[in-house]
Amino acid sequence: MKTIFGPVHSRRFGVSLGIDLSPSHKQCNFDCLYCELAPAATVDHQETVVSVEEIITELKTALKEHQNIDEITLTANGEPTLYPHLDQLIDEIDTIKGDKETLILTNSATLVDKEVFNTLLKLDQVKLSLDAVTPDIFKKIDRPHPDLNIDEVVDAVIAFSKVYKGKLFVEILFVRGLNDTEEEIKALNDVLADVNALRIDIGTIDRPPAYPIEGISYGELHTIATQFDASLPINIASRVHAEFSQSSYTDEEIINTLDKRPLTPEDVEILFDKESKNRLLALVEEKKVKIIERAKLEFYIPAENIQRKRKKS
Ligand code: SF4
Repeated sequence: MKTIFGPVHSRRFGVSLGIDLSPSHKQCNFDCLYCELAPAATVDHQETVVSVEEIITELKTALKEHQNIDEITLTANGEPTLYPHLDQLIDEIDTIKGDKETLILTNSATLVDKEVFNTLLKLDQVKLSLDAVTPDIFKKIDRPHPDLNIDEVVDAVIAFSKVYKGKLFVEILFVRGLNDTEEEIKALNDVLADVNALRIDIGTIDRPPAYPIEGISYGELHTIATQFDASLPINIASRVHAEFSQSSYTDEEIINTLDKRPLTPEDVEILFDKESKNRLLALVEEKKVKIIERAKLEFYIPAENIQRKRKKS
């Protein structure tokens, strides 16, 4: 069974070789409304398991062929942390990965298991999904295995972020009419204030979902981004629905907008009209706006904002 795929190029994570820890079929403890895979009953363990030896043999061959990658990404048709030999697999990857980093894309739920929690501490990068933090919305969007409790998952996510030494990313996927309400965003904001994440990516449905649901527009994502606390490292990750019309911003409006929410060059491309883009470039030349790098992405941020944050720290 082929477990290695890619290299995959991603704006947020660079170039990576993927490892599919459930190559034959979907094995997941969630059955998310937005899943790209067909709906399937949830499971709390894998029934069909690939051997570590098979994965490592394929990975060695792929690493020889693709030397210019940034990461080796553990993923699955389903939830990769359900793979029962994950700890051993990571140890073996560490012996052959050289200067590449390991990354896992997980739905966070198995962090409540102490063994999984400790195993994930070994990775260079972890991306945790957290679509909702209230029981009702969590059940509606992620359709979790009945044994899972969102309060326990949230506690585990916060605890993990406090002890994890690698690069931690959080991702929230917004579904119209479910987690895009003011109440859920506030609840998410309160939890995320306690999570030490390098970057929080917010997105929406970019591919055909398992169930008939709707994503939200780029404009709505942008509004949601401003509802989170300005100190949170929010990044708008979906641009598929970027039909947002370009607007004109004065110098002052540019500074105020960036003060509320730093923007990437891609955001500026969508939101600013031509004259406003030129005004932004002039502000960069005048050193009133700076470009900072945060976890591989560039952001425009007011220079004074940087100074204020420095004074605080
Ligand atoms: S966690 Fe991922 S694989 Fe599992 S149902 Fe949700 S989107 Fe699909």
